[in-house]
Amino acid sequence: MSTTEPRAADKPRPVPIEVTEPFWSGLRDEEVRLQRCDDCGAWVFYPRHRCPSCLSAALRWHTVSGRASVYTFTIARQATHPAFADEVPQVLAVVELEEGPRLTTTLVDVDPDEVCVGLAVLPVFDRDEDGTVLLRYRPAR
Ligand SMILES: [Zn+2]
Repeated sequence: MSTTEPRAADKPRPVPIEVTEPFWSGLRDEEVRLQRCDDCGAWVFYPRHRCPSCLSAALRWHTVSGRASVYTFTIARQATHPAFADEVPQVLAVVELEEGPRLTTTLVDVDPDEVCVGLAVLPVFDRDEDGTVLLRYRPAR
């Protein structure tokens, strides 16, 4: 490999900010944490300062199971970025958490041919050498 080829370490990394830090620190503790509105009960993802349902600022973090189902997916057979060439074919998915919010993720430990809408999936806490933990999903089986 030449020194100019992208490496896994060149992959874009999340950059936590104040409002998102509890989500990322939860992943480091191998927990999925979501905000919930104390005023109307809505579950909220992505992290925000105000509830998108009632505009209340009374959002509190809760640890949830992380159980979800596949809402939609696509299979990237060509790398979406040169740094992801080692992950092809990559199963890119939107999963719907039991609580309702949907999040974009990557399915791992799965045969792309077995992925379908509605597939029950469980969280995978994918820790990099730099300590970053990404939330991926695998079939519940
Ligand atoms: Zn609310």
